[in-house]
Amino acid sequence: MRIAVVGTGYVGLVTGTCFAEVGIDVTCIDIDSKKIDNLKQGILPIYEPGLEEMVTRNAQKERLSFSTSLAESVQGCQVAFIAVGTPPGEDGSADLKYVLAVAREIGRSMTDYLVVVTKSTVPVGTAAKVRQAIAEELEARGADIAFDVASNPEFLKEGAAIDDFLKPDRIVVGVDSDRAEQVMAKLYKPFLMNGHPLIFMDIPSAEMTKYAANAMLATKISFMNDIANLCEIMGADVNMVRRGIGSDVRIGNKFIYPGIGYGGSCFPKDVKALIKTASENGYSMEVLKSVETVNERQKSVLFNKVDNYFSGDLTGKTFAVWGLSFKPKTDDMREAPSLVIIEKLLERGARVKAYDPVAMKEAKHSLGDRIEYGKDEYETLIDADALLLVTEWPEFRSPNFAVVSKLMKEKVVFDGRNIYDCKEMEEKGFTYFGIGVKQAK
Ligand code: NAD
Repeated sequence: MRIAVVGTGYVGLVTGTCFAEVGIDVTCIDIDSKKIDNLKQGILPIYEPGLEEMVTRNAQKERLSFSTSLAESVQGCQVAFIAVGTPPGEDGSADLKYVLAVAREIGRSMTDYLVVVTKSTVPVGTAAKVRQAIAEELEARGADIAFDVASNPEFLKEGAAIDDFLKPDRIVVGVDSDRAEQVMAKLYKPFLMNGHPLIFMDIPSAEMTKYAANAMLATKISFMNDIANLCEIMGADVNMVRRGIGSDVRIGNKFIYPGIGYGGSCFPKDVKALIKTASENGYSMEVLKSVETVNERQKSVLFNKVDNYFSGDLTGKTFAVWGLSFKPKTDDMREAPSLVIIEKLLERGARVKAYDPVAMKEAKHSLGDRIEYGKDEYETLIDADALLLVTEWPEFRSPNFAVVSKLMKEKVVFDGRNIYDCKEMEEKGFTYFGIGVKQAK
């Protein structure tokens, strides 16, 4: 089989590479010629564990190629995936201009039957718009070529994207023709070896499934953050409560960790877009509106603890920040809670020294030289009045606290992800603040 994947970001590049990995002939296309030039030399536009090696291997085997020309690349393909960005517009709705631009270009250049698949996260009704855009372009050039549209939302997690793609919990495909279903079933057959289901459904349901999944996960996070905040007020410990409820199989122990709010390129924009879709159709998503409100509030929780501890006087204080990316194992800084916390510290005249294993280059785009960047996690601590643990990278989980103690000016830790044990930290002489955690002293 031969396919084209349009967009070489976190989703498109992983999708294309993983299809190549199982033997499919893939061309990845991007409008950004610098990205394509780099990819041709094995330089990736993003950090994703294991991806670089897999790209190189499949490119060498000539199953994976890169191009800026959609028109050329789509020739001879059975499937074209649209995996470009769908950023939030000013009103919170998903901006479809990139998706529809690609659809039009496909309509202008396709020569044979093609299944055009939206892999980007798009609101219900988008596949119909894609179909219309392609049909208009075909009509404009007087071409009578059969095609189908399909919706195949992507559920991969940044940081574990390859595993998620190669061994998915499920694959959801929305189709409205037998022919498209057969093509998609053939394409995904190699990924079903572990018994994971390929779920075919109608197109609107597939489009909605992605939003429902992300909205549910965001809801779990905000719910636990709300519980954590109340735990603190009431003298309970959310770590205990989490274990207590997570052992109930109806609740489950995944995604119930409190923290400093969700970020990233998906949850914030997808929750907003779903609220907007509902309101445009005369319905109000009350739960999700609260999920957003709690999340906004949560991004300030760690800063507020710092502010309280230092009695509102942060001028001239030095804060070490461990972790910048919105979650571990990615360089993605989009909507990262670290940005909110750091901006607040800077506004109050504090000095910030940050370290992140991979996201510092990305972080510089928004933070520039307004903060200092450490060589490693320890160097960041020199003369710090406090440490703020913002992203739970594995390397921060078990540092040498004897060294940490020596380097810091004051032994104060604000743990935004509850990765340290309050009691142990206090035994080591630290003043420790977690999220929803009872302080022993
Ligand atoms: P991204 O911003 O990392 O990548 C998008 C790419 O598309 C960019 O490289 C851009 O240059 C390219 N592009 C834009 N217009 C183009 C055009 N006309 N022709 C060719 N290329 C073009 O985005 P992403 O994070 O990969 O997300 C893509 C979509 O997948 C979004 O809808 C997102 O919501 C969804 N999604 C993302 C994730 C994730 O974890 N990042 C997970 C699931 C779904």
